Amino acid sequence: MEQMPGLFDGSPLERPVTCPACGKARGDCACPRAASGQLCRPADQPARVGREKRRGKWVTVVTGLDPIATDLKALSKTLKARCSAGGSTTDDGIEVQGDHRDAIVAYLKTLGYPAKPSGG
Ligand SMILES: [Zn+2]
Repeated sequence: MEQMPGLFDGSPLERPVTCPACGKARGDCACPRAASGQLCRPADQPARVGREKRRGKWVTVVTGLDPIATDLKALSKTLKARCSAGGSTTDDGIEVQGDHRDAIVAYLKTLGYPAKPSGG
């Protein structure tokens, strides 16, 4: 008896592409990805939290976030609410008015970002 040709006998390219992080098909995967399509989870984004004095006032500056994989606007909103301060997003980060460096480092760590304080 001759074997039926299998539907998935072909090259590995014919298999559905699954996400290595969540195991779902790429189309169903909601894992954060960078612009390149590479997985980019919070753990892959080494956030740096520094502070600068501008016109005599401290500004906490968060950099090192991937602007595609991380929703900077949403994160900025959360940080501003947690710090009860104003702020804004930049091309690759977030600025919060006032010196909230330690609080922001601690909070980013709870989200899974390997955050570190930077600068003096
Ligand atoms: Zn995934």
